Amino acid sequence: MGTENTWMKNGKESRRIKVVVLGAGFAGSSFINSFKGKLKGKDRRRIDLTVIDGNSYHLFAPLLYQVATGSVRDRHISAPLNTTAERKKFRFIKSTVLRVSPERNQVITTTGVVGYDYLVVALGAENNNFGIPGVEEYSVPLKSLQDGRTIRERLFNSLIPEKNALGNGVGVLSPVNFVIVGGGATGVELAASMSDQVMAFSRKAGVRHDGINIFLLEAQDRLVRDAPQEVSDRLMSDMARRGVKVRLNTRIIRLGRNGVELQNGGFIETENVFWAAGVRNGKIITEFGGNHVEKVHGRIVVDNFLRVPAFSNVFVLGDNALAKDATSNNPVPQTAAAAVQEGKFAGKHLASIIGEKMNSHGFRYRDTGLMVATGSYSAVCMFPGGIILSGFGGWIIWHAVHLFKLDTVRNKISVMADWALRDRLMRNMAGPGLN
Ligand SMILES: Cc1cc2nc3c(=O)[nH]c(=O)nc-3n(C[C@H](O)[C@H](O)[C@H](O)COP(=O)(O)OP(=O)(O)OC[C@H]3O[C@@H](n4cnc5c(N)ncnc54)[C@H](O)[C@@H]3O)c2cc1C
Repeated sequence: MGTENTWMKNGKESRRIKVVVLGAGFAGSSFINSFKGKLKGKDRRRIDLTVIDGNSYHLFAPLLYQVATGSVRDRHISAPLNTTAERKKFRFIKSTVLRVSPERNQVITTTGVVGYDYLVVALGAENNNFGIPGVEEYSVPLKSLQDGRTIRERLFNSLIPEKNALGNGVGVLSPVNFVIVGGGATGVELAASMSDQVMAFSRKAGVRHDGINIFLLEAQDRLVRDAPQEVSDRLMSDMARRGVKVRLNTRIIRLGRNGVELQNGGFIETENVFWAAGVRNGKIITEFGGNHVEKVHGRIVVDNFLRVPAFSNVFVLGDNALAKDATSNNPVPQTAAAAVQEGKFAGKHLASIIGEKMNSHGFRYRDTGLMVATGSYSAVCMFPGGIILSGFGGWIIWHAVHLFKLDTVRNKISVMADWALRDRLMRNMAGPGLN
């Protein structure tokens, strides 16, 4: 049988192989599934798998904007890691990683030092403030469940019906500006959903919403700039239909308590700035391995098998990695879809190393297209090969794909119920303004 750290081989006790995964996000979770699934019975007994994450849950970030606008409940897009650990049989440590020492095969965390034989780094990226003064103090990012809850509170606390404000029996919502920074997919989805919720709220409260402005600021000359022009154009027209004020070629130079200063001399008065302007890797990644490890724009350059060339027992996945497709040599994007594919590949590859089998080809990235929800009954989807579908058809596909990808059956059913009962959910979320 052996002890917790050993196993019996030919009547002799051998040390188990320690595999440590940092981060149970998209890449880390996909690695665990694939690694566990591909290990053969005898190899399974040789492995000691530990997963470290600062959160006690896995977050389904693509639906976070709906938490921020009160369209789904926060607990419905998170899956507890303790339960997953019990089911999939790995050790879960809830702890924050501070540093990795690849020279010593050690991870330094807030609860102690963890040694490893193989390491999987999948810590995801942080919010990028581009060094703009005031971003940390005066904006709310959209990265964590807490961020989602904070934005939701800001949104609904700012919607204050003033009954009979126009003196003729007609009420309005108190004027307020919301500013979303970053015209990528997340910024577009947040702006569209916010606009929907403002309209739904004003309808239910029986007041007008003329004084509410939702600005979407983008530094480049179009929305979702990595997508073809036609996708950006369709997104622009969907935003216009929702009343979102898109400002392209608009750079922010400073954020203050009272608003946003623009490079073109403009100023938008607001206390509600939501930051969705991009991501960057944190210090753990940018300082990983010092000069021995190549980084490009803060991402660790990995080989075709997603390993760090200088430390071949370390895999780096997801947003932390600069991986290239083994066939085309094109860089792999920082998306959930890519992170999942990388996790799956690395899990299979490590299982083959442990089982002493050869994995003949390197990582191949499969483009899965692009989907952006643009509010109720509308989304823009671009499929591999360039076919674009927007409007209601896109909305159906967006919903089907997101439900399919959600982690647990329980979360799938709960999110479906949230969508079906959205009026009731809004009353719960909206607080005193509606009740
Ligand atoms: C709001 C939002 C919406 C998005 N929508 C989409 C979308 O629709 N489609 C798409 O393809 N991509 C989307 N993305 C991008 C996608 O979520 C990321 O590309 C993907 O999550 C990257 O996977 P990952 O495993 O590298 O990191 P993550 O999934 O971010 O996982 C990182 C994990 O590491 C943990 N962690 C981080 N730092 C530490 C630490 N120091 N110590 C311990 N644990 C730590 C975190 O808690 C987390 O569990 C979205 C991102 C956001 C923020």
